[in-house]
Amino acid sequence: MILFKNPADLRTFLENNRQVKGLKTGFVPTMGALHDGHISLIRASQAEAGLTICSIFVNPYQFNDRKDFEKYPVNTESDIQLLEKVGTDILFLPSVDEIFPPARSLEKYEIGYLETILEGRYRPGHYQGVCQVMSRLLMVVNPHHLFMGQKDFQQCLVIKQLISQMKLKVRFHTVPTLRAPDGLALSSRNGRLNPVQRKQAAAIPAMLGYIRSELHAGDPGPVLHIAQQMLEEAGFKTDYIAIAGAKDLKPLISWDGKEKAVALVAAFLGEVRLIDNMLLN
Ligand code: AMP
Repeated sequence: MILFKNPADLRTFLENNRQVKGLKTGFVPTMGALHDGHISLIRASQAEAGLTICSIFVNPYQFNDRKDFEKYPVNTESDIQLLEKVGTDILFLPSVDEIFPPARSLEKYEIGYLETILEGRYRPGHYQGVCQVMSRLLMVVNPHHLFMGQKDFQQCLVIKQLISQMKLKVRFHTVPTLRAPDGLALSSRNGRLNPVQRKQAAAIPAMLGYIRSELHAGDPGPVLHIAQQMLEEAGFKTDYIAIAGAKDLKPLISWDGKEKAVALVAAFLGEVRLIDNMLLN
């Protein structure tokens, strides 16, 4: 694995590689504290592209909650070992000043509807930060393929929109969520749960499974009501549980039973905020 810290060096290396060897590149952006979910994105890239680039960059601008940023786990040494073990070709590990030079101001993105709902609503400024970092990373790496996790469902839609706004040629791949045996989606934040909370956290996938099996055409209100109770009984404080169209996240007030739908959740267990989602059909 080759490690790059400097964006200009990586860009030059990739441009030379593209011209000389004609390799297709796959890009997996992460914030580190890597787990098997991240590794499934690396493997998806390896299946599609000849050269896989992973970035680790904890973007300060996408944390609306300062405490969440300060407590975000950093395990660079073990991340490097893991990436090497699975045969990642390139690791991009830039500093904050290299991605966000102090002299350059932050762009404002037209995110529209997606910024007003769910994560956009509960984490003001989050998707601006996501677009600011992703546009900069994509300009450096300029990959043929981009791999992101369904775990961050709304983020996938925001980035697809960004790619079309930037008129980039990159092909976007949504990779299914990898889960622990009890169904909890793997997440860098799970390590902050104590053993009791870790057990309670299985209520999230159980609740999503309940919605999937009980939702029928018509008003989703009664199913959502029970779903909310399930999380409260497990000790969660819920930001939202929503059922929406999978294409655009428009709310499904009355479901026709056919439109592709997704259930999405964000909830706190103590100080740890977990998000998850499940496709319903
Ligand atoms: P993060 O480091 O949390 O920013 O995540 C980096 C990428 O990994 C994002 O595209 C996430 O959606 C994806 N990801 C996170 N958790 C999982 C998971 N359990 N399964 C699959 N992909 C994931």
